[in-house]
Amino acid sequence: MTDPRPRVRFAPSPTGYLHVGGARTALFNYLFARRTGGRFLLRIEDTDRERSSDAMTGQILSAMEWLGLEVDGEPVHQGDGLDRHRADVERLREAGWVWPCFAGQEELAEVRARLREEGRPLRPHEVPGHAGAEAAARLATGEPHALFFRVPDEGATTFDDVVHGPTRVEHAHLDDFVVLRTDGTPVYNLAVVSDDLHMGITHVIRGDDHLSNTPKQVLLYRALGAELPTFVHVPMILGPDGRRLSKRHGATSVEAYREQGILPEALVNFLALLGWSPGDDREVMDLPELVEAFSLARILKKSSVFDPEKLAWLNGRHLQRRPPERLAPVLLELLPEPERGRAAAERERLLAVTELVRGRARTVEAMAAQARPFFTPLASLAFDARAADKHWKVPSEARERLLAVRTVLAESDPYAADTLEPALRAVAERLGIGAGKLFQPLRVALMGSAESPGIFDVLVLLGRRRSLERIDRALEEIGRREAAS
Ligand code: GLU
Repeated sequence: MTDPRPRVRFAPSPTGYLHVGGARTALFNYLFARRTGGRFLLRIEDTDRERSSDAMTGQILSAMEWLGLEVDGEPVHQGDGLDRHRADVERLREAGWVWPCFAGQEELAEVRARLREEGRPLRPHEVPGHAGAEAAARLATGEPHALFFRVPDEGATTFDDVVHGPTRVEHAHLDDFVVLRTDGTPVYNLAVVSDDLHMGITHVIRGDDHLSNTPKQVLLYRALGAELPTFVHVPMILGPDGRRLSKRHGATSVEAYREQGILPEALVNFLALLGWSPGDDREVMDLPELVEAFSLARILKKSSVFDPEKLAWLNGRHLQRRPPERLAPVLLELLPEPERGRAAAERERLLAVTELVRGRARTVEAMAAQARPFFTPLASLAFDARAADKHWKVPSEARERLLAVRTVLAESDPYAADTLEPALRAVAERLGIGAGKLFQPLRVALMGSAESPGIFDVLVLLGRRRSLERIDRALEEIGRREAAS
């Protein structure tokens, strides 16, 4: 008995990076396979030798791995199926489904143009020298030729699509189409059908840019005596301007989002909601939750619009959701040296800093920028010139304020937020200034800039010794600025 579990495949052509549309197709296949206990297979469609590369295959695999879309079994390479593709063409030939075409590109283009004008489909008798005895004679001489599939003259090809419903194409509107080129290479439609049959694919889930190929593929399935898979054509992704998403809308590769500090679970979540919804008002979901909720029936028929704001928002939500132990390594990767090495060596403090900075950030990049000064060595902490000009404007005042803070930090016992906060607020009051006038100069001294997490968190995470050292260094800097003015 055949295995009743679904078998699906993602079939990228390795001619470029994995882009958002491809990743969503992969994801929907993955979710369906995991939801149904089926198999999620990967087929690299590398028959276009000139445009395909191993490097791109590697990129696609690594992007899928990063997204967490684990493939079942080894990837299949379409190029390895060449003999089988040809054997399938031979089966078609034996059953009378193909005709030899001797015409060159140009001649065929002319014929096509004429037929288009006259509103007739391409058929062998429309190509001069391709009918009856003449064609047979040319074939007998061994004249090089491509093989074209013979679309029946009468009737129509129909199939059902889960998203688009029943679809019907009249044969009078369908050209005969090439299955094997003159050089003996199979074309896309033939290779796909041959491979999907060979791999036992039960559901073809792909972008609806392939909807127009489907009638031809359906004809091939039927001519090969095979049952149709279930077709699921997922609507395109549009850019915010309503046009098909492309490079003109900015980054579209998975790799680019990774580099921008987007978490894979956020991108997966975002992609899942492009053209699908869980049927309730949930939005923030991770892969297991998506698997649990997924169904083909809730794929939307309408194209979905790529909204970068929503991705940023989801990323922020996933930054909050991820346990710090799993977030810290990502952050670490984005830190430059020497901060990275120092942070790695102080795991506890790295976790605490991660916890602190994620509350205010929407990307891991932004987190890394905020985390960095916590780990900068004293001697290389740079003071942002604009922040220093603004908050240390009057050197004598800045010095007075920092010295007053210094005394509190040196004496507070314990050195903790609960003791530091009232003591520092009291300092501001004693000096007759608002708390901000005390905290901003301090912030510049501690972090080098006027932007940082809450000042008490900063003080605690730096610790007493580092805070005092940084204040001393700021005081020196203020002295230098004073002397130079
Ligand atoms: N290789 C095709 C593509 O990248 C996909 C073919 C298919 O899914 O049937 O668009």
